[in-house]
Amino acid sequence: MTKTTATALTGTVSLVTGANKGIGFEVARMLGAQGSTVLAGARDPGRGAEAEQSLRARGIDARYLPLDVTDSDSIARAAKVVADEFGRLDILVNNAAIVGPAAGEPSQTPLDAMREVYETNVFGIVALTNALLPMLRQAPAGRIVNVSSEVGSIETMSDPHGVLAGLVSIPYPSSKTALNMITAMYAKELRATPLKVNAANPGYCATDLNGHRGFRTAEQGAEAIVHLATLPEDGPSGILYGHLWRTDAQPDDPEYGTLAW
Ligand code: NDP
Repeated sequence: MTKTTATALTGTVSLVTGANKGIGFEVARMLGAQGSTVLAGARDPGRGAEAEQSLRARGIDARYLPLDVTDSDSIARAAKVVADEFGRLDILVNNAAIVGPAAGEPSQTPLDAMREVYETNVFGIVALTNALLPMLRQAPAGRIVNVSSEVGSIETMSDPHGVLAGLVSIPYPSSKTALNMITAMYAKELRATPLKVNAANPGYCATDLNGHRGFRTAEQGAEAIVHLATLPEDGPSGILYGHLWRTDAQPDDPEYGTLAW
């Protein structure tokens, strides 16, 4: 993983969606600790203000940014605040996501459940990214990290002996598969620019998203995301990178690496 100094990101501006709790909060904290001014996106004013306060108490230059990624007016307002009040954007972490209502097996899937999940996990990311792309293009070393998941990896999910062999559901997993392709396509469009676009797999972390069933902490989940957000100039673009979860893991196996799409 990239080793960065406490001031490596001084002068940069980062936006993290869904930064009021869980992995997003930890990403905001870690980018802020490296000197970036952090815009903590949150859809609820109370939770956003609390996150800002909590980050500031840790010495981070944080500012709550009202942002509901499913609301086009909210996205437009947020993009205007970033442009008018900060004048630059170096790092965008598309972290906000939902699991959605229980949808059962594929044959039972209610379309409303899929639509709800896609609004946040897929359409919201494209809408926000496109609203902020003009500013990100101006950044000397712009980075976009889409927070995905190993459950979006078709190869991982199709392995009958893999750790996710028992998970059979359409909405959330397929939203992350869509996000993986979206990541690859932005990376392709932007390959001649300094911008890097990658997808992160935090690993299974104990957060509200899964009723705190994960075996990793939110802070550990943030590590791969921050790694991708701070890649050097010769780093990759258009990959899915993060925690490697194996049933047969040996003590010397790497904790992080590139995952199959
Ligand atoms: P949490 O449920 O703890 O946090 C999700 C965050 O997204 C919250 O801040 C939530 O805000 C926000 N959010 C949800 N909908 C919107 C919206 N419409 N607009 C703005 N913000 C919104 O989840 P995690 O921290 O676990 O998840 C973070 C990311 O990591 C997600 O992309 C998730 O898919 C991914 N991930 C998580 C894993 C895990 O094991 N936890 C594993 C693999 C991937 P609010 O508080 O208002 O609800």
